[in-house]
Amino acid sequence: DKVGFAIVGLGKLSLGQLIPGLKVAKGAKLAAVVSGHPDKARRVAAENGLPADAVYGYDDYDRMAQDPRIQVVYIVLPNALHAEHTIKALKAGKHVLCEKPMATTIADAEAMIAAAKATNRHLMIAYRCHYEPLNLDVMRRLRAKSLGRVRQINTTMGRQADPSDPSDAWRLDAALSGAGALGDMGVYGISAARYLLNEEPVAVQAWAWTDPADPRFKETQDLINWQFRFPSGVIANGSTSFAYAPTMAFEAICEQGRLVADPAAFYGGNRLTVVKGGQAQPPVPAPPVDQFAREMDWMADVVRGKAPMVSPGEEGLQDMRLMQAILDSAAKDGATVRTDWGYRRAVDP
Ligand code: NAD
Repeated sequence: DKVGFAIVGLGKLSLGQLIPGLKVAKGAKLAAVVSGHPDKARRVAAENGLPADAVYGYDDYDRMAQDPRIQVVYIVLPNALHAEHTIKALKAGKHVLCEKPMATTIADAEAMIAAAKATNRHLMIAYRCHYEPLNLDVMRRLRAKSLGRVRQINTTMGRQADPSDPSDAWRLDAALSGAGALGDMGVYGISAARYLLNEEPVAVQAWAWTDPADPRFKETQDLINWQFRFPSGVIANGSTSFAYAPTMAFEAICEQGRLVADPAAFYGGNRLTVVKGGQAQPPVPAPPVDQFAREMDWMADVVRGKAPMVSPGEEGLQDMRLMQAILDSAAKDGATVRTDWGYRRAVDP
């Protein structure tokens, strides 16, 4: 039997990727929709063959608690609302899959983890790249030292924010998004540096620059660049912006060549170029799998006890702490901030 998911928030990601993903998922299925817009929710439910009583409002967690069709609640709201809804869903007895960035404050992320412990429910952060074949392939090549030791990682994650799109308007609003481009796009680079290397940074230096004349950035910062130092001696450079052309790319520079994933984390069309010596081999396209279906199927398997938890709340919290360290360093124009607080991931993806 498939594991039933309730999707909370029917915005771009839910309608464009997650509900379609649940149609092709093998172990997960759409069981309910949760929205602040009853008309939209009823329409989406009807379009997806859900009964009328599988439509919920944001304050309906008591009724959800009584609904055995729902095992997982997937939080797909603006970042500042993740903590409140995650904790309510956990208290309703449901497992939670929560979108990235996990929260807008470290305290909220800690409260989410504590709630999962207290209720003995699973809390997974929706880091789709942990489950995506091209990213997993690069991890395997690096673990196998296929091009010798890795020396440097570069990650570039950004796009142009469009304030006329409601889906971007809240991302430019500090109260709803937290850290703007850093939380929305930069988090992919922070996470990638950590999963590519399977180690944790011990120090960071960061620099930020935001055009004071750009009306998009009244509350959030635009361009942020950082440098992580890892215990092995690897250096990871990261960059994020809401004012450069869409890019989600990374590169691992090794002793004998480079692994270039560009794009590395788009919804489709990702590809890997292996450069051996100076010679680029023909690019390898990522297998055409639905990343969102894979991630939700993984969560379903975690719930069934068939798969380990690869991206728990603790992984989200580590990225939250590293984002804070980046902002702290940038506020002091690149002062070194120590990040060796001892976090280790439980499971190598
Ligand atoms: P969106 O703006 O398109 O959708 C958000 C939904 O929340 C909307 O339906 C909106 O009506 C609702 N909402 C409820 N309260 C709101 C409030 N106070 N202000 C604004 N909207 C409110 O956003 P999205 O792009 O679907 O992003 C949702 C979440 O998913 C975010 O956390 C985002 O970071 C994450 N996301 C992840 C990926 C990924 O690849 N994993 C991609 C896109 C978005």
